Amino acid sequence: CGIVGYAGPVQPSGRPLDVVLEGLRRLEYRGYDSAGVALTVPGQTVVSSAKKSGKLVNLVDELAAHPLPEAVAGIGHTRWATHGGPTDVNAHPHVVDGGRLAVIHNGIVENFAALKEELAAEGVTFLSQTDTEVAAHLLARTFREVGDLTVAMTVVARRLEGTFTLLAVHADDPATVVGARHDSPLVVGLGDGENFLGSDVAAFVSHTTEALELGQDQVVTITATSVDVVDFDGEPAQAKRFSVDWDAAA
Ligand code: GLU
Repeated sequence: CGIVGYAGPVQPSGRPLDVVLEGLRRLEYRGYDSAGVALTVPGQTVVSSAKKSGKLVNLVDELAAHPLPEAVAGIGHTRWATHGGPTDVNAHPHVVDGGRLAVIHNGIVENFAALKEELAAEGVTFLSQTDTEVAAHLLARTFREVGDLTVAMTVVARRLEGTFTLLAVHADDPATVVGARHDSPLVVGLGDGENFLGSDVAAFVSHTTEALELGQDQVVTITATSVDVVDFDGEPAQAKRFSVDWDAAA
């Protein structure tokens, strides 16, 4: 339902978590039933994550009880359940591939049952009842095949039917957040030595008002200092630049 992403400086800090939680707070007006975050730390073989059903305060309490390490990038999600009840396990992020890949998703993967069968036949086991976990495992498998998160996202985006904004982080590429959109919004916030992603500009408007609106069927890859946009065939693509007006930002 609400999506936030952040890529910051190489020196790990508390900022990725702070930015993601603030963004989720600003997206609360959309309504949600669960919330979660995933962070990447250079040198760690897995992503760090936490997720809880209920209001954001439940996630914040969980993070206080079990703090996450300082990080360089992160993603956050507030969920409005469509497939699988509003439980901790069904909350996003879905962390797969031995803890190395975390995925969040807005929308519905209409062909999740067929994809689930295909993956189950390969030995994948599923922890949740969500359509999203299927996309996460498909991305993990594709990443293992192609070795690049952006390329993997384009391959997965071509296979998914339905509506989606997807964000992913991988422990092997900790400085990077990759996103994709199809019939669901995704905007990029252009910072100074850091970059942001959001399901709407409220996710990052307290940090920057310079933004890019991703077009239909585009994949974006952000680091602290770069924003690259391609279409679902991996060809360079243009996203529309705009400035958030201050009335909307207030
Ligand atoms: N279909 C996904 C789920 O039920 C995502 C729902 C959303 O957009 O928050 O987990």
